[in-house]
Amino acid sequence: MKISQAIAASGIDMREARLLLAEVCGTSQASLAASPEQEVPFEVENAFHDFIQRRIKGEPVAYILGRKEFYGLELSVNPSVLIPRPETELLVDLALERDASSVLDLGTGSGAVALAIKHQRPKIRVVAIDSDLSALLSAKRNAAKLNLEIDFRHGCWFAPAAGERFELIVSNPPYVASGDPHLEGLRFEPQGALIGGPDGLDCIRDIATAAPSHLVSGGWLLLEHGQGQEEEVGELLAAAGLESITTWPDLAGIARVSGGKLKS
Ligand code: GLN
Repeated sequence: MKISQAIAASGIDMREARLLLAEVCGTSQASLAASPEQEVPFEVENAFHDFIQRRIKGEPVAYILGRKEFYGLELSVNPSVLIPRPETELLVDLALERDASSVLDLGTGSGAVALAIKHQRPKIRVVAIDSDLSALLSAKRNAAKLNLEIDFRHGCWFAPAAGERFELIVSNPPYVASGDPHLEGLRFEPQGALIGGPDGLDCIRDIATAAPSHLVSGGWLLLEHGQGQEEEVGELLAAAGLESITTWPDLAGIARVSGGKLKS
């Protein structure tokens, strides 16, 4: 079968099909696009077929490829970690603007946020925590591959950082409500990294409550959250005693990150 036919007959989005075919051929998408008339090598046809079947069953392309680009870094991903989302780059932008010298990342997953911060600002001391050991292992592997030094710790939220204070705390916590129909489309991803209880705010509540005792004075807490949660998140941050509560929109204009700072 010709390359162009294989892509057209795949039954999935053409761009995704080209990406998956390039992967099994060990070549670039550009070179596939440049030679549509070429035959797909026989030995990769089966592998391509397997990839297409997985995609048709709903598995995200990032898991099929085992990687996802985030903030200019190529991260390895697997079903024990949430696939880094483009909108989470806002959390990194805001973190970098704070110019902190110590950062704590809660629920690091693949390590995306912690690694992006460390990559941009090598001098920052970055501590990253996750309660899931296989996620933490994935994050450690990503850090080793990228040659970035992060202090990874295992445990629930602040537990492995007892008694410590940071200039900045960031988190992309689970924030989807447990009954949200949107979860069906996210079924391949770790549910524990997505679901934040009945209203989606359980983890944000825990983090906001404990944050002030882990911030230096004037230090910021920045939290990613879901569409429409900004008001409640703002109230939780205020109830925890944080000030200058602010919400920032992502590139789609959706309120995506809220934060507050400890009184200086
Ligand atoms: N932004 C993700 C989604 O709804 C959820 C990520 C999260 O819960 N932290 O697709």
